[in-house]
Amino acid sequence: MTVPLLDLVAQYQSIKDAVMPALQSVIERQQFIMGPEIGQLEAEVARLSHTNHGIACASGTDALLLPLKSLRLEPGDEVIAPAFTFFATAGTIHNAGGTPVFVDIDPSTFNLDPAAVEAAITPRTRAIVAVHLYGQMAAMERLLPLALRHKLFLIEDAAQAIGARRQMDGEWRVAGELGWASALSFFPSKNLGAWGDGGMMLTQDDALAERLRKLRLHGGAKQYHHEEVGTNSRLDTLQAAVLLVKLGYLAGWSAARRDRAARYSHAFAGSADICPPTVDPANEHIFHQYTIRVPRRDDLAAHLKSKGIGHAIYYPTGLHLQPCFGHLGYRRGSLPATEDAMASVLSLPIYPELTVAQQNIVIEAVRDFYR
Ligand SMILES: *Cc1c(COP(=O)(O)O)cnc(C)c1O
Repeated sequence: MTVPLLDLVAQYQSIKDAVMPALQSVIERQQFIMGPEIGQLEAEVARLSHTNHGIACASGTDALLLPLKSLRLEPGDEVIAPAFTFFATAGTIHNAGGTPVFVDIDPSTFNLDPAAVEAAITPRTRAIVAVHLYGQMAAMERLLPLALRHKLFLIEDAAQAIGARRQMDGEWRVAGELGWASALSFFPSKNLGAWGDGGMMLTQDDALAERLRKLRLHGGAKQYHHEEVGTNSRLDTLQAAVLLVKLGYLAGWSAARRDRAARYSHAFAGSADICPPTVDPANEHIFHQYTIRVPRRDDLAAHLKSKGIGHAIYYPTGLHLQPCFGHLGYRRGSLPATEDAMASVLSLPIYPELTVAQQNIVIEAVRDFYR
């Protein structure tokens, strides 16, 4: 039996009877652009994320780019970000006219190390992008006061963390709730995935929300009247219809992912080689990925491949070492915790449809390799 890294076909089969009529209804109405499902989805995702506003857009990348663009960065303006993340986190900083400043991660959670962030702040720093990697939130209670003290905009890249929570001062705070602006992605493989591209911006700030709503529609609130230059970054009504149905399953799916993560971690607990992911005790993780750290990682990957077991390396190269950022002057050794992670992480199949039998195959194959 092979075990895929992700099984969207199994998910489709489990929700098809609910999604197809919702799609059919959009098709009957032929209102593909900014139909009523967009506003409904924005309201529901904003409620889930404890924000005043949700602004749907074309992708998670645009959900980062538009808030960054609204800062009107000048050449030389710096934005602090981790290098151990998906490319969009830093690509958007560059495309908004800023310079990414890469800082190292906390090796236990793979999220931004607040002390490293503080050390990287200069008079040119304008913003911080905190990524909630693999589905657990970064140490927002330490990043927020830093942003406040240095008058920086704190942006949450919550593309992998929709609905993830963190306990702060005895209260549960949700991914996307605390940033000046936050980005969600509905890329199909994300925990809440569309049937194509999609994303959403979140904010508590009424004026920023108004501005982002304009920026996704060529900078105009009224048709043919443009206050600033924006772009076309709308979410399709069809995608909103899919997402509205899937949103009803999200809490159950996240719980099922946590279950499977607990089973893996229990099975790997006795191993001297396999290091299961650390969940910060303040966090409720949504396990977008279940990522272990192991010695001889590439050999384990080859072993899993030979057995037909899905796996992935997120991420094999830190963004500070990408050729396109070569001019920034980072080299090997610049970010030791990031570079350790690049060499040792491996993500295993995790999704609500993963069966016990499938999971046992994965567990056996990994344990077998280190026996
Ligand atoms: C997926 C992802 C994005 C980008 O989202 P898209 O919808 O693919 O554009 C940004 N940041 C992180 C951390 C992601 O995982």
